[in-house]
Amino acid sequence: MTRYAIVGQGVAGISAAEAIRTVDRSAEIFMVSNDPNGFYSRPGLAYYLTGELPEEQLFIYSRDDWRRLNLKQVKGEAIRLLPKEHKLALDHSAPLEYDRLLLATGTTAAPLAVPGAILKNVMYLDHLEDTRAILKQARRSRTAVVVGGGVLAIELVEGLAARKLQVHFFLRGARYWSNLLDEVESRLVEERLEHEGVRIHPNTEIAEILGRSGSVSGVRTTHGETIGCEMVTVAIGARPRIELAQVAGLEVERGILVNETMQTSHPDVFAAGDVGQVYDPLTGKKSLDMLWNPAREQGRAAGLNMAGGTAIYQRAVAVNVLRLGGVMTTIIGAIGSGKNDSPLSFMRGSSETWQQLPNTIAVAKGGGVNQLRLLLGERTIAGALLMGEQTLSLPLQELVSRQVDITPIRAQLLHADAPLGQVLMEFWLNSSVERKKYA
Ligand SMILES: Cc1cc2nc3c(=O)[nH]c(=O)nc-3n(C[C@H](O)[C@H](O)[C@H](O)COP(=O)(O)OP(=O)(O)OC[C@H]3O[C@@H](n4cnc5c(N)ncnc54)[C@H](O)[C@@H]3O)c2cc1C
Repeated sequence: MTRYAIVGQGVAGISAAEAIRTVDRSAEIFMVSNDPNGFYSRPGLAYYLTGELPEEQLFIYSRDDWRRLNLKQVKGEAIRLLPKEHKLALDHSAPLEYDRLLLATGTTAAPLAVPGAILKNVMYLDHLEDTRAILKQARRSRTAVVVGGGVLAIELVEGLAARKLQVHFFLRGARYWSNLLDEVESRLVEERLEHEGVRIHPNTEIAEILGRSGSVSGVRTTHGETIGCEMVTVAIGARPRIELAQVAGLEVERGILVNETMQTSHPDVFAAGDVGQVYDPLTGKKSLDMLWNPAREQGRAAGLNMAGGTAIYQRAVAVNVLRLGGVMTTIIGAIGSGKNDSPLSFMRGSSETWQQLPNTIAVAKGGGVNQLRLLLGERTIAGALLMGEQTLSLPLQELVSRQVDITPIRAQLLHADAPLGQVLMEFWLNSSVERKKYA
């Protein structure tokens, strides 16, 4: 009987277990997890924070699902991997012996390195426990400072504002998410937040967190201003948890390096999810995604291959549909400035690909809350950002991810007065009809 060990009970680990079970019903699958709450939707934490989603709806699996998976749950921390011996050391129990192992350890929030950062109520949003702690503290607080950028910081801002706190949002740069959004898009998000009563502080960082009796009482900014608050929440980046792989001598860079079968530099050790650094056929580089769907797909491919299959993981165009300052937003492919304004890393809920500045021409159309920006290559659309009205979200996802040849409409799209949305929609409808005819 083959023994599989999976470290991490996030979506990558669970998908791997699912995939192994489709091939091998009798195998022993050990699932090692240090999260007392098991498997739940991490993207859902943002909606739990705002109060839009009750906690029980975060849990995706039913009792029947667990029974079907038939896992041997091991609660605790995996502390050392010995690939040659095929052993995994654990903090609370005897070492596990395995035939094949998956590292699906995800990421952890990058810590804020300023005086006072270890005070109580300096908080991060990694797990369900963190979310519960933030909510508990929010009930006792009147004012919060949020520091960071990208997806997670704005989710914290929105969550705390929804709980009626006065929120101060500190931006390192002149505007929100400047390595991804253009000026109009950033301002749109900022205006919406300000409308909700959020105070935005551009070009501002925390110089020191001030405390009283071990808890946060305020912050001193890099401009010398002091703001009183009872909590500071931080989302300045996320780091893949590569330590087990690193100490075991596996090849790592920013993440654990894997080939297209999700195998690491040791043939019996695989890695998947946020922690995996995967070959990107578009750029020829190995990149990181911190997104739910890629984590699930990588876990599936890893599980099938661990069970003796030959599944190839092909990195797809990175997509997320999310809310920024209350505005529904779809982000697809490469749309960034090519800069990374976070020296630490990038955020959960985003992809390294987005930040790239492709060799393209940008065309944009907007009116109020509805914004559309396309990055046009010679024959394809390299990336798209859609805010507000989302009718074009699916068509754009398809046109970008399938690299549809847009030659017939390219000149129209480049025309200054082009009704971009209408041209794209008609083209997509026609190309869908064509595809179906020959399918
Ligand atoms: C608040 C929030 C909002 C997000 N929003 C979005 C979104 O809008 N869209 C989107 O696509 N993605 C979003 N994401 C990102 C998405 O949730 C992740 O990409 C996905 O969960 C990654 O799955 P994973 O299995 O790789 O890792 P994780 O879900 O991080 O799971 C890894 C698990 O391994 C455990 N672990 C780590 N080391 C050890 C060890 N040594 N021993 C035992 N256990 C260990 C960890 O505690 C963790 O439970 C969001 C994430 C967060 C936190």
